[in-house]
Amino acid sequence: MSSAVRWEGKLSTSFAELQGVRQGSVWSPSVYKLFVNPLIKKLESESLGFKIGNVFVGTPMCADDLLLISSKPDELQTMISYTSHFAETEEYNISKEKTKVMIWNSSLNCNLWNQMDKFHIGSETLETVENYKHIGIDRDSREVEATRTIIGNRLKTARQTSYALMGSGLHGLNGLNPEVSCKLWSTYVVPRLLFGLEIVNLSAKDISRLDIFCNNFLKQIQNLPARASNAGAYLLLGQLPIIALLHKKILITFGTIARSDSVENDLAKRQLSTKGKNSKSWFIRADKILKQYNLPCASEVLLKPETKYKWKMKVKKCIDNFWSEKLFTEAKSKPSLRYLNIKNCKIGVVNSIWKSAGSEQMCIRKACYKIKMLLDTYILQYHRSKFSNGQKTSICPLCEEGTEHLEHFLVVCSALTSIRDIFISKLYTVVVPKIGTAAWTDICVSNSKMIQLILDCSRFEWYHVLEKNDINLVESITRSLCYSLHEKRSVLLESK
Ligand SMILES: [Zn+2]
Repeated sequence: MSSAVRWEGKLSTSFAELQGVRQGSVWSPSVYKLFVNPLIKKLESESLGFKIGNVFVGTPMCADDLLLISSKPDELQTMISYTSHFAETEEYNISKEKTKVMIWNSSLNCNLWNQMDKFHIGSETLETVENYKHIGIDRDSREVEATRTIIGNRLKTARQTSYALMGSGLHGLNGLNPEVSCKLWSTYVVPRLLFGLEIVNLSAKDISRLDIFCNNFLKQIQNLPARASNAGAYLLLGQLPIIALLHKKILITFGTIARSDSVENDLAKRQLSTKGKNSKSWFIRADKILKQYNLPCASEVLLKPETKYKWKMKVKKCIDNFWSEKLFTEAKSKPSLRYLNIKNCKIGVVNSIWKSAGSEQMCIRKACYKIKMLLDTYILQYHRSKFSNGQKTSICPLCEEGTEHLEHFLVVCSALTSIRDIFISKLYTVVVPKIGTAAWTDICVSNSKMIQLILDCSRFEWYHVLEKNDINLVESITRSLCYSLHEKRSVLLESK
């Protein structure tokens, strides 16, 4: 094999490569596997390395990353010596700095491990560590720390990634359309957050940490306060909770194992037939998750594995349905979400309030206010009074004619009539030619129907007669109405 270096468009003279595989080439991992296979086979044939039942799991390998597993310290030292000897005869080097020893559950074999706490490659001592990153996943041998470290590091990475991508646009009103932020989130942040976590046994606390991070993030990009409803924040962006994404990864990995002729497949068969319900085995956990979504049980999947595409689609459909139902139920129970038309919310689809706002700063800013009102997180005198336990009055500071709640502010308050009327007559011109005067009158006689028209008109039966252009117009007028009411209110309050 010969190689050459390309630099600034020019190619160097070629030189022969006598050893090693090409960086980044598709067949490099396979070639490398062929190269080291004799070592792996030798260890296995001499029964060196850990076994689960009769399944040999002593030497898992990923590209050039080799892991040696043993329950006996002297056996582990023998495995290390074999490996270093193999490297010597094949003329390559094992990095002593990168090779570490980790001891799990040492209490099981306490005396043995205490007697031999140092391991060597040749004359050099290997460092024994409590945690180490193996193929991109942090591992910690301390029971309590086991997954806490991983989650802490992942949250840090996810935070850094999101700030790098969205910068100051992440906060406040001067940012990106949440539809765009959400796309960046799913493409760049979520994969970094969940990388490899499908194989880690996370605790309920770990999952809750991930969940809180995601809740806050999805609210921040929509400029919603922390107290806004989680279901509302997810439904507006068509997003699933992080646990659903994690479950998808676990089940897709299980499908891959079921299809393959591998050690993992042998292990799956063994663990599923020998372990009880309360086992911490990954396969038992996968089985429980399959049951949660009414999918065939793990043994069935192993027996009759489906094609990659079919399985992926099946898992996606079941998990999407399960979680959208859950979000719908939660949303229905929240009085603050009574104006949000849940039936129009779909996983993977962003609400038309955000969609129609496009990329223009002012439109996004206006949409932010409309969303706040839709989720009842826009602070009015009624809320101030409620938060102060009745210490403050709930009477409208503008007209002083009644309690200032959302209904009063949007459709009643006489101090805002002049502004409101401008937009209502604009709405009339757009909507009436499509829905007729009878339907319009029906809206005008009811405050709650008028609020519904302003905040989410998709709930009306006539919604389907509107074309995309009409919907965008209605969105544009109503978000301007919400914003202008807010502005007028602020001006009036300042002059008081
Ligand atoms: Zn008023």
